[in-house]
Amino acid sequence: MNDKDFDSAHIWHPYSSLPARGEIYEVDGAYERKIVLTDGTELIDGMASWWSVIHGYNNPVLQKAVCTQANKLSHVMFGGLRHAPATRLARMLVKMTPKVLDKVFFADSGSVAVEVALKLALQYQIARGRTQKTRILSLEGAYHGDTIGAISVCDPENSMHSVFSGILPGNIFTLRPSCKFADNWNDNYLADVTEVIEKRHTQIAAFILEPIVQGAGGMYFYNPEYINGVKALCDRYDIVLIFDEIATGFGRTGKLFALEYTDVTPDILCLGKAMTGGMLSMAAVLTTAKISDAVSKNPPYAFMHGPTFMANPLACAAAIASIDLLLKFDWRLQVKTIERTLQISLLKCKKLKIVKEVRVLGAIGVVELKKKVQLDKIQPEFVKHGVWIRPFTNLVYVMPAYTITKAEIKKLADAIYKVVSCL
Ligand code: PMP
Repeated sequence: MNDKDFDSAHIWHPYSSLPARGEIYEVDGAYERKIVLTDGTELIDGMASWWSVIHGYNNPVLQKAVCTQANKLSHVMFGGLRHAPATRLARMLVKMTPKVLDKVFFADSGSVAVEVALKLALQYQIARGRTQKTRILSLEGAYHGDTIGAISVCDPENSMHSVFSGILPGNIFTLRPSCKFADNWNDNYLADVTEVIEKRHTQIAAFILEPIVQGAGGMYFYNPEYINGVKALCDRYDIVLIFDEIATGFGRTGKLFALEYTDVTPDILCLGKAMTGGMLSMAAVLTTAKISDAVSKNPPYAFMHGPTFMANPLACAAAIASIDLLLKFDWRLQVKTIERTLQISLLKCKKLKIVKEVRVLGAIGVVELKKKVQLDKIQPEFVKHGVWIRPFTNLVYVMPAYTITKAEIKKLADAIYKVVSCL
């Protein structure tokens, strides 16, 4: 059996049947913003491998950091042991995020970070004697990962809720904030969330949200004032506020963290994806002394989570190098330039009948269509145009590496225009 047939018969791909529907392309390598297929085709990558490869592929600084670390210590259990890469990375994360978020838990993926955040919040409420606060409040349009806890706070319509109904914890949802990012704010936009919280606060342990940008649940940008209002409600009703910045963190929205658009510091912050520059899987959960003290000083006097690969030294080394690199170069200017170039080059898509809306924020460009795309049909069209763009539902979007050139952005935008105009 050749490799293609073996893959098709035996290997799951993300969100796929087995065998997967549609073509699965074999990748031979990648460099800068290009994915190189085995047949020699080079594709300009508009996805940065699901938001993570912010410095481009095969970045020599990141490669060197991981190789050097591999020659010294590639892995050791974190129970009862510590090491310099974890300490250094934790120091960096504490320094670059709001001051009170100075307790760090290293997880191995974004979904696990969300599980950790939910468990921390629930354990905090139990420690404070508020045992009836067992539910999590979340937004329609939310996406927080694929594990059971994480999907229980994903949008109830567009996620796996129906498949797992009866098994998932019964969490509480409120409407997606209807005030868009640049719209004028008024407090009526808080009516739904206020009503839900006022009615059900005795049951609500935590409110989890992706600040400013809802990613995989709709690529939707909403108004920072919503979050300011939510924070006041959470404070009033003793609800732990969790920000999932796994997708938005490390500069993607034009701020280092999307929370900087707001006046709010959450109680718990989840980071991941771009943290290692896409070199290795790693995530982190930051929280405050208030939460960690309550969890640590009350039964069971420990936070009950500890993955095998917690604080893996290779991933720590990649993250240190990636963050160093990010902070050393003028990423703000670069993301601003990407934003402007996307705004200009995607403009023509607005004229297409099938297009509902074009929106851009930071290094994220979205073309929302009036109907869903058929992925197995549209994907080969993008490949024919020399780009790697992977739409979902009715959303064609790009979120490239920050090192992308203007010419490459234009090539992505031209491909979107041409492919979408044929739908
Ligand atoms: N939260 C958000 C906001 C995400 O976008 C994602 C990944 N798309 C996750 C959590 C889950 O991260 P991972 O895929 O690393 O488990």
